[in-house]
Amino acid sequence: MRGLMMNRPLLISSLLEHGARVYADGEIVSRTVEGPIHRYTYADAHRRSKQLANALVALGVEEGDRIGTIAWNGYRHFEIYYAVSGLGAICHTMNPRLHPSQLAYIINHAKDKYLFVDLTFVPLIEAIADKLKSVEGIVIMTDREHMPSSVRDGVQCYEDVVHAHSDDFSWPEFSEQTASSLCYTSGTTGNPKGVLYSHRSTVLHSFAIALPGVLHLDESQSVLPVVPMFHANAWGIPYATPMTGAKLVFPGPALDGPSLTELLRDEEVTLTAGVPTVWVGLLSHWRESGSGVPSLQRVVVGGSAPPRAMIDAFEREFGVAVIHGWGMTEMSPVGSVNVLSFKERALPVDARLDLQCKQGRPPFGVEMKVVDEQGKPLPRDGKSFGELKVRGPWVCNGYYRLRRSTMHDEDGWLATGDYATIDERGFMQITDRKKDLVKSGGEWISSIELEDVATSHPDVAQAAVIGIPDEKWTERPLLVIVAKKNRSPTKEDILGFFKGKVADWWIPDDVVFETELPLGGTGKVQKTLLRERFAQHLAER
Ligand code: AMP
Repeated sequence: MRGLMMNRPLLISSLLEHGARVYADGEIVSRTVEGPIHRYTYADAHRRSKQLANALVALGVEEGDRIGTIAWNGYRHFEIYYAVSGLGAICHTMNPRLHPSQLAYIINHAKDKYLFVDLTFVPLIEAIADKLKSVEGIVIMTDREHMPSSVRDGVQCYEDVVHAHSDDFSWPEFSEQTASSLCYTSGTTGNPKGVLYSHRSTVLHSFAIALPGVLHLDESQSVLPVVPMFHANAWGIPYATPMTGAKLVFPGPALDGPSLTELLRDEEVTLTAGVPTVWVGLLSHWRESGSGVPSLQRVVVGGSAPPRAMIDAFEREFGVAVIHGWGMTEMSPVGSVNVLSFKERALPVDARLDLQCKQGRPPFGVEMKVVDEQGKPLPRDGKSFGELKVRGPWVCNGYYRLRRSTMHDEDGWLATGDYATIDERGFMQITDRKKDLVKSGGEWISSIELEDVATSHPDVAQAAVIGIPDEKWTERPLLVIVAKKNRSPTKEDILGFFKGKVADWWIPDDVVFETELPLGGTGKVQKTLLRERFAQHLAER
């Protein structure tokens, strides 16, 4: 017997429509690419998104068309998110930090019809324009005053496009399974793969991240996503904020410590979110200037494992609670969060930090298991580790225009490529990325654990551990570090620091000092580059 309830589709347009109706004066504040701070409300954003929707229809955009964006976090990007998906077209966000040839590959693979580009990226798009096969037009996301003089014919100005149309527009209704947005994964191996989200997956993911045990969003919150809108939809924050009325603050291109601090303070931000590399810069600025941000209550750290010392610094030096999160582009992206209970907050510091280094528990909707090499589930004992598999309504079931995904099994689980343990209470902890584990003498060494020890040394700013070939042991760990400003630790200092903290055979064979670590497009350390560079290091010593 079927239930007698309305079958209203879960559509992205309804999120902003709700925000505009119920939190009409809720604020969206943006640091613009042009410089000044821009502020308006959910009601204004809704009106302009409808103007843009009319403009897109006039440009010939139809349901299912892909519209590319190469842009920072800002209010125009937000309007494009809603106008494009709201129409039934697909908002394809792109990472400008990718190599230009990869960007061209992605645009052609997605067959983007139009591109919306921030001023910063005009030279980038001009450099690849001749390689683009499907693009019918480019819109520069600025006003007439700031339009570059050199652009080709047919390139349009965003504000002209929007202002040429009225806000008289009704969002169409269609199936909630309709594709809404497209995001290619970082593509550290082979070509990037496209994850195609749906309206349903996006709205359900928004419900999930807004929950109290996840990001706890409501009107009392002022939220600044540092995580880019081109990286898994800024972890879903631009969708969950109009849903809940939280104030939304966009940092634009200024992601350095001083600029972020200024915006966090001026907009009384309570919750911010980003990858650990961003927080390295912020914490170092706070230490130099002697103060943090009084309004800031919580920081979400994910994308890579935050060093234990970083969690400790936020909490004890600056009074900001850390929410450690884990996810993947394939998961919209939130897969787990670590929010401590009242009791756990009161644990002795070391025990609390041990717990916070875990990637946390899945919100309702995500199922997880760790499996051995035969695919058999392993016990949830916090010790047995194997590959982490996931499934749920906001996990992709394949990739865009790829006939067969090797990441999905017949039972519909996605293999994450991460190795993890799950404990009795459901806390998942990543041991390593499958390809980053160091295999020494037939046993596994976790690079994450070694990096944690290294970054808790008072002179170390950043650390990366890689496995490099060794005749006797197959692989041995090498530690690459960046020292803190004006500190010069010695190799003996650093290696001695590991004594007693990890098994002796885990201690890296050598340390190399660098001035910076190579970062990929999403702020993760590119270990493949380090492995290539130091492949011969032990042999040459
Ligand atoms: P992406 O799709 O670019 O967001 O990358 C997803 C991958 O980032 C995951 O499969 C993990 O390997 C890694 N990752 C994300 N969050 C964390 C975290 N909190 N700790 C460790 N690794 C993480």
